[in-house]
Amino acid sequence: MTDKKHITVTVLGSTGSVGKQVLASIDKYPDRFKVVGLSAFTNEKLLRDQIDKYAPKHYYYPAGGVEIQSSLFDFLDDEKFSSKCVGSLEELAEYPCDILVSAVSGIAGLWAAVATLKRGGILAIANKETIVCAGRHLKALEKKYGGKILPLDTEHSAIQQCLAGEDEKYVKNVILTASGGALRDLPVEKLAKVTAKDALNHPVWNMGKKVTIDSATLFNKGLEVIEAMHLFSLPPEKIKVVMHRESIIHGMAEFSDGSVKALLSVPSMSLAIESALFYPHKAKDSVPELDLAKIGELNFSAPDTERYPCLALAMKAARMGEGACIALSAADEVLVDAFLNGSLRFNDIPTTLEKVLAKFGKVKEAALEDIYGIDAEARKYTYSVGVK
Ligand code: MG
Repeated sequence: MTDKKHITVTVLGSTGSVGKQVLASIDKYPDRFKVVGLSAFTNEKLLRDQIDKYAPKHYYYPAGGVEIQSSLFDFLDDEKFSSKCVGSLEELAEYPCDILVSAVSGIAGLWAAVATLKRGGILAIANKETIVCAGRHLKALEKKYGGKILPLDTEHSAIQQCLAGEDEKYVKNVILTASGGALRDLPVEKLAKVTAKDALNHPVWNMGKKVTIDSATLFNKGLEVIEAMHLFSLPPEKIKVVMHRESIIHGMAEFSDGSVKALLSVPSMSLAIESALFYPHKAKDSVPELDLAKIGELNFSAPDTERYPCLALAMKAARMGEGACIALSAADEVLVDAFLNGSLRFNDIPTTLEKVLAKFGKVKEAALEDIYGIDAEARKYTYSVGVK
């Protein structure tokens, strides 16, 4: 709810890596933003601390209400005790707020994203799987109800900024950059022996576990290709990927005249987060000044398909259709989980994904209501063929 003084923000997934960074950005501007909704999946302790700190109107925690810590003085503060636990993420998203940040992981964020757009709200979204599985529907809802989708992913945020004010008929391609992840310099023949610990050691970005593993396989970039296709309403062949190890250029747009616009900054999630929170304005000093003279050189190369078979698989899914994209995204959640638990080898991720693709490639377009079903079926299938 806009209380005139503040821009009100709900953060879904507030105890995760992106959620915490969003709250850190909000903390920089206490006079501008007010947190009115929070949700967490498992980290009850941190959620409790956050409720204590922000006193949101509503929150969601799957296990139910959390006990709020109180000191003697808190009894003077009514707000602190009025935070109400709601029944679902979707219900939380239905409550009015100026910006809903979806930083949950996985397809669990789908209906909350839909609910936000159905009330014409601003959806700042880091929840990749939801865009991958339902991007076409989200764009249609954005248009129908007059809301706005603002990607929180660095690459898409950058591309959206490069495209701002440009006529879509002149857009030739958009280009996503990829750092290459934790294993980029490891000889390809050693990939078979990689452990979760090796793959979690990302050279540039400090992110959640799932996305860090997905960066090591470059599946993450494949998901981003599918996301870009939906977010910018472009066919898959107009979305390119280039390796760029310094992560200074985050995204580019190429136009019919051959010109290319790029967005550069010191690598930090803060820029994408604050670009969304301040949209259409800009924040002050979201990231430190970029000193190109000091950086000296920027490197680019084509993705190595032998090292990163998952990228090619995701790009293939993008061309195949929505059934393939939904199934691949679901299967990858299962496989990454199994890899993190030590019950799957690194190289089994792409080989299993390939089987999933062969099985689920037929559905060209999936209705919103069918997404969970395809997702569940793909998980079941993945267990049966990939995870022992
Ligand atoms: Mg990214």
